[in-house]
Amino acid sequence: MRRYNPTVLHKPVPFMNNGAVCWGNSLIQFLLSCPQFVEIINEGTGRNDIFIEFEKLIKKIRTGNPDSQYGPIAIISLLNNFSTRHFNINLQNGQQCPDEAFHFLIDAMKNDNIEYIFKTRYDSAPFCNLCKKFGDINRNEPNITIDLEFHKKLNNPVEFSENIKKHMLRSEKYVCDKCKQTNTISVIQYSLRMAQSVIIVRVKNNNVGGNFGLSKENVAYPPHFSLEGKDEILNYKLVAQIIHSGSQYITSGYNPVSQKPYFSAHSGGHYYAEVLRNDHSPSAQSQSNSHLNKYDIPSVVPTHGDIWYRCNDFSITQISSDISYPMNNSSYLLMYCLI
Ligand SMILES: [Zn+2]
Repeated sequence: MRRYNPTVLHKPVPFMNNGAVCWGNSLIQFLLSCPQFVEIINEGTGRNDIFIEFEKLIKKIRTGNPDSQYGPIAIISLLNNFSTRHFNINLQNGQQCPDEAFHFLIDAMKNDNIEYIFKTRYDSAPFCNLCKKFGDINRNEPNITIDLEFHKKLNNPVEFSENIKKHMLRSEKYVCDKCKQTNTISVIQYSLRMAQSVIIVRVKNNNVGGNFGLSKENVAYPPHFSLEGKDEILNYKLVAQIIHSGSQYITSGYNPVSQKPYFSAHSGGHYYAEVLRNDHSPSAQSQSNSHLNKYDIPSVVPTHGDIWYRCNDFSITQISSDISYPMNNSSYLLMYCLI
């Protein structure tokens, strides 16, 4: 599996926003912070139009003046053509959701290597609230993002990892195949079967303060977590996030405590990205440690030289060099890379 190699990344550069494209700018900054993604682009194995625009953009950033503004407009416009043609969704028509745009982008790039690094597989089973039984299991369903509803503070890496492995999500109406009764709202249990080298989490109930009694300051995500692989422990590190600002937001979820759904439907707001770079070579930061416990992650996650940047369209600011920084109550997409 491809691992996090920050040396292939460049310092983030400002992006123009000549229209409502902050969702696109944030998404592209997010992807340019994923070494596994950048590596595949640099290898040049894809000849798809969006792939080529990514190649051009990365080359421009590598050779250009870091303070001038760059426009990923060509990528956004190709992406918009794709979503309009295939799904009749005009992405440039108002504020869009970066998660949906990410799914369109990966679909539009038609590159197996790229799709593969993000792909997780889950078994899912609907749960009937009436007879208290699970329905038939759907096995090995692939997705490129993981939805998580945060019912409590999950900044502990072990708890976060447990939630990645097993969680519940609210879903549509469900007619139970055991008792034949109708659940107006069903709950689906997801169990992780396989993860690859990049894990993208969509936070489903952020920015809503009051849900589940979670106050904003109680929402937090760990800077790293681990999963048990076949023969080894896989350590993942938070390397980028897309943040939604403003109170308008589309969110829905299921409250397992009250067993009731909630909806909060708005649109608009603004997106920006926060991304990690490292100004030290990997050899300078790696520490060998052969006496680690299973969850003894902090000592194996390289942090020396880590710098977080906020990429808000044309504004790039250094925000912290502290590994414990990326705790944001408005995080929408989180990217964890295998180290
Ligand atoms: Zn039932």
